[in-house]
Amino acid sequence: MRAADLVVEGASQVVTVAAGRAGPARGRAAMNDLGVVEHGAVAIRGGKVVGVGPTDDVRRAFRAKRRLDADGRCVLPGFVDAHTHPVFARWRDDEFARRCRGESYEAILAAGGGILASAKALEGTPEGALVSHLEAVFDQVLLHGTTTLEAKSGYGLTHEAEVKSLSALREAARSAPLTVVPTFLGAHALPAAYANRRAAYVRLVTDVMIPDVAKRRLAVFCDVFCEVGAFTIRESAAILRAAKRHGLLGKIHADEFGDSGGARLAARMKAVSAEHLGGTGPAGIRALARAGVVPVLLPTTSIFLKLPKKADARAMVDAGCAVALASDFNPGSSPTANLSLVAALGCSILGLTPEEAITAITRNAAAAVGLSDRAGSIAVGRPADLVVVDAVSYVAVPYRLGTNLVRDVVRHGDVVVRDGRRHAG
Ligand SMILES: [Zn+2]
Repeated sequence: MRAADLVVEGASQVVTVAAGRAGPARGRAAMNDLGVVEHGAVAIRGGKVVGVGPTDDVRRAFRAKRRLDADGRCVLPGFVDAHTHPVFARWRDDEFARRCRGESYEAILAAGGGILASAKALEGTPEGALVSHLEAVFDQVLLHGTTTLEAKSGYGLTHEAEVKSLSALREAARSAPLTVVPTFLGAHALPAAYANRRAAYVRLVTDVMIPDVAKRRLAVFCDVFCEVGAFTIRESAAILRAAKRHGLLGKIHADEFGDSGGARLAARMKAVSAEHLGGTGPAGIRALARAGVVPVLLPTTSIFLKLPKKADARAMVDAGCAVALASDFNPGSSPTANLSLVAALGCSILGLTPEEAITAITRNAAAAVGLSDRAGSIAVGRPADLVVVDAVSYVAVPYRLGTNLVRDVVRHGDVVVRDGRRHAG
């Protein structure tokens, strides 16, 4: 018998999300293959998975120091949130209420609201306060089953405030039991001070901020908001080229409101992922599939902003894309970090199957953040990140529309959520 630190056993199902397969799941057949082990168990040693199989077999093969009885519940990989904006100083519930009463987003923006309001609030907030805010956010994220989180700056919009945002992220991530993938998003909006000097701001991003962020190793990715009203195709291309020169991987917010060519730019620039894509048409979808760019779809944002166009997820899957879903957690357009809700809307709004939605918040989301070999599946040799949900079948995750069924969370072999509460491990 081999020794294990922890055995999670007695699961109705262990959803491995096709463990052992390399890379993301592209297209319909792969995205519908979850690799389910019925009556399964997972053995963990040194923070890594050392065995997956039927509970009887795992019990016979491993002597466990500790056991976690899933008691007939379903076990899945820790969820991966591939797109969030958690570094903000205050919520924008006031704007939400105004929008509900009929004011338009544009009118609120013109009156100093939106991203620029977040930037103003962040400017006067000390780094320590941002760290405390992020620690609270990370607790919420973990309680919803997310063990890997992509996190963007982008409410700074000055060199100093962007560095402060990313430093706070690094500091908060140091002690939190989850994997944070930091993304520099200095090109989130044109700051008010540069309203008539677009080119000067783009140069500040490409020539000052990107080199400094890369030198301090504050980010893995660089993102840009490529959209009418934000940054043009040319500006976005310049920003992503500068990022590449300094060793940052590319992401693009593209085609949120219409087909502005953002998806094709993502393909041309060999970005790792392209996000939103509500307006992306057939040519853009073909380009994404050919270039192997991961489409990251954000259905909570579509609903929250009542966006007229939704991403054509079915066409993307059928074109052979490795579609991912993410929360877009942020104070303006998606104030939730609940990936089960995102998966539910992936099915009910975007037309994915339950299996595709689960793949989209695990294996394919891991590919979107460059961690295909480390997150998003339960496989021997990989970090042991998994969740136990209070249901017999994984279908409950997208079916129970926003109910948080996450009961236990194991991260790198430590139990960090137990019976729905944060646990010291
Ligand atoms: Zn976003």
